[in-house]
This record gives sequence, C-alpha cells and structure tokens, in this order.
Amino acid sequence: MSTLFISDLHLSTERPAITALFLDFLRARARQAEALYILGDLFEYWIGDDVATLPEYRPLIDGLRGLTAAGVPVYVMHGNRDFLLGDGFAQQTGCRLIPDPTLISLYGENVLLMHGDTLCTDDVAYLKFREMVRNPDWVRMFLGKTIAERVAIVRDYREISKTATATKKPEIMDVNPRAVDAAMQQHGVRHLIHGHTHRPAQHVFALDGQSARRTVLGDWYDQGSVLVCDAHDSRDGGGRAASGPAAVGSAGVAGGRTPGATDASGCVLESLG
Ligand code: MN
Repeated sequence: MSTLFISDLHLSTERPAITALFLDFLRARARQAEALYILGDLFEYWIGDDVATLPEYRPLIDGLRGLTAAGVPVYVMHGNRDFLLGDGFAQQTGCRLIPDPTLISLYGENVLLMHGDTLCTDDVAYLKFREMVRNPDWVRMFLGKTIAERVAIVRDYREISKTATATKKPEIMDVNPRAVDAAMQQHGVRHLIHGHTHRPAQHVFALDGQSARRTVLGDWYDQGSVLVCDAHDSRDGGGRAASGPAAVGSAGVAGGRTPGATDASGCVLESLG
C-alpha cells in the first residue's frame, strides 16, 4: 500500500486527454492507495462550488466520489487556481479539504505539505495579488457574480498574469531557499512536499546540519506525475507504521514518530501516460 501525492493537474476542457488520464488514475492506480493527497491546482480554475453541477465537471466530481466511496481518503489542498474549492465540493466528492500548510505523519516521518506559491517570496507582485483575492470581502464580491461574469474576470486575470510571467525571470518564480528553510524549521520537519513551480525534483540539502529533502511534484500538462511513498524501513519487518498517514492540520503536531525511523518513507516520482 502506498500514499500518493499529486498536484498541478490544471484540469480543463481544453486538455481532454489529461482529464481522461486522471479519471483512469482515479479508477485504477489510486484505488490501490492508502490515501491520495492533491496539493493544489487540481483545476485550471475553480470559480465557486456551483460549477460542480455543470456537465463538464460531472465526470471529475463522480470520479473523485467513486474513489472516496471505495474507502480511499482523498485530501485536497487549495492551489492558487482553485482556492475557492469549498464545502460544496467536499460534500459532493467526499474529499477532505486540508489547509496550506498541513503537517502529516507519513510512515513515522513528519512531512510538511504545501502548495508552494507562498514559498515564492521573490515574486512580490504575485503575493500582492494573492493577498487581494484571498480577502474575504473580495471572495464575497466574486462569488456574488454570475458564472459568466466570474469566467470573464478569471480570463482577464489570466491575461494579466501571462503578460507578467513572460517578463519575470525564471528564478523569481521558483521557491526562495530561505522561505523553504523557515517553513521546515517552523514545523520541525526534514521533508517538504509541494507543487506549484512545475519543476519536479527531489532536492537533498543540509538544514541545521542535518540532511533534509524537498520533493517538488510535477504538473499534468503532457503527462501525469505522481509521487509514490511507501514505508521501506526493514527494522519493523518491512511493515508500515501502524498509525499510517493522518492529516493533523497545519497547527497540530503529527504523532506516531517512531524513534530512529525518521527516514522510513521511500518516495519515488513517477510519470503517467
Ligand atoms: Mn500553482
């Protein structure tokens, strides 16, 4: 049994092959998993839970529902594109929304989960925009508009963002190493998993004199990308930690850390399709 992590699928009607790949992933691979974590930007954009009833979203809602109904817990974190996923989405799919950041215990190791956009602290213009649209007043104003009006607003923002992105240096749009260190130190972890930057990699680096890891999930543009984590600590006979993965919230402290087993999660980035 494995725990799966994905992000940045950017599902939209413009890339039906990726939607089909994801639906297949939900029906097959994910059914065998212990849990599935979706760390933001599942959708290209999400303009309010009322769109879940639109025909183009139906197969995705049903696909997620099928997986949770089969007993696989699915945890969904907001990304910058779908931060309006709300209780209506959670109810219709059976997914559980988790805050950014979230600390989990993964086979005995404390692991910090983030979308990743808040780590890009050099992108000051983006962070300003983020602050604006996450303001409850802005959200109320936005959700009060018709679907057509909301789509038009999102398209405008996309055009502005595309123009801005084209002129930003690539390093501006990557994570800031000091922001990474600070987040990991704050939560006392040596493994961070995030998406957003679309630069899949497993970085190993020194944090406070100890080995630390930052796993970056890949996007689902040309193919799928999944991080597969298994317990691979032979000291307990190869079995996984009895507690298994458990979301404990951003402010909580994950329990069940096994002494001497902090390196017990073996995680592999795989491509799909
Ligand atoms: Mn993102």
